[in-house]
Amino acid sequence: RAKEQGRNTYQFYTEGMQEREVKRLELDKDLNHALANDEFVLYFQPQLDLNDSSINSVEALIRWQHPRRGLLPPVDFIPLAEESGRITDIGRWVVMAACRQLAKWQNGPYANLRIAVNLSGRELDDESIVEHIQEALEANGVSADRLEVELTEEIFIQNIEHNLNQLTKLHKLGVHLAIDDFGVGYSSLGYLRDFPVDLLKIDRSFITEVTRRHDDAVITRAVINLAHNLGIQVVAEGVETPEQLNFLKNHRCDLIQGYLISRPIPAAELEKALSAGLLNVDTPVGS
Ligand code: C2E
Ligand code: MG
Ligand code: MG
Ligand code: MG
Repeated sequence: RAKEQGRNTYQFYTEGMQEREVKRLELDKDLNHALANDEFVLYFQPQLDLNDSSINSVEALIRWQHPRRGLLPPVDFIPLAEESGRITDIGRWVVMAACRQLAKWQNGPYANLRIAVNLSGRELDDESIVEHIQEALEANGVSADRLEVELTEEIFIQNIEHNLNQLTKLHKLGVHLAIDDFGVGYSSLGYLRDFPVDLLKIDRSFITEVTRRHDDAVITRAVINLAHNLGIQVVAEGVETPEQLNFLKNHRCDLIQGYLISRPIPAAELEKALSAGLLNVDTPVGS
């Protein structure tokens, strides 16, 4: 009986795995067409400057409008794209789309906005990505200081020399560099000395309970002080409550990003919210 059950469990498990593998292959095939069919979209999440309550930057977060499965979040396809290498082309599309958006904004009421794009370590491996970013900026007549690149600590663990070289070139262009998900990446602090970092984004996992857990509060304060003493600005990710906001304001965090202000939203919705003055701590935007 036990043996039988064990075997059934095993069969069920392998079928599940096969099913997943089939789905994965299908998704990979679909990814192949997604760029050609223009199925990716950028959503934007504003960052609130705590010094003057202004919005001067937004993070671009990719979505895939899948023909059958609806709007897919990055977790459903970015890891797969990294495995298959398609991430290189997706990343190029993201950079180009961000620069096109900056060009649209640069002569109107939203000319102050900067866009932050996410680049994975895999994308930085690509020798020509820096050139591509420069070309995208030039083709759209956008100044490099409008663009920010967010990288996670993984880039300080592997290919360090190559990555330092890439980021130094990017920084020389005038692109701002941010370390994303700071504090969860197992890398050493030494790279803050060696790499041209402009911003640290404290990972959401420290912010969620920052007003309830002493250790999270201590870590968050320490990161803010460390960054400031190195001349680096700090963004808190995943701010959802007024209590978290107050804590961060009291401890001189520079910027916050999170559902308290707005969810990631399409460009048109962002423009509406900005002109209606809705992007503040009293009116969460987006569903
Ligand atoms: P990330 O760069 O750390 O982005 C922040 C994620 O947290 C976003 O999820 C955002 O929607 C979510 N978030 C923001 N505020 C809150 C909040 O208050 N509460 C909670 N619970 N979540 C919040 P999203 O859009 O699903 O993106 C997930 C990750 O996918 C990103 O993490 C980033 O690593 C990656 N990603 C997104 N767009 C791109 C892209 O264009 N290229 C690459 N390579 N990766 C991307
Ligand atoms: Mg990010
Ligand atoms: Mg992040
Ligand atoms: Mg994160």
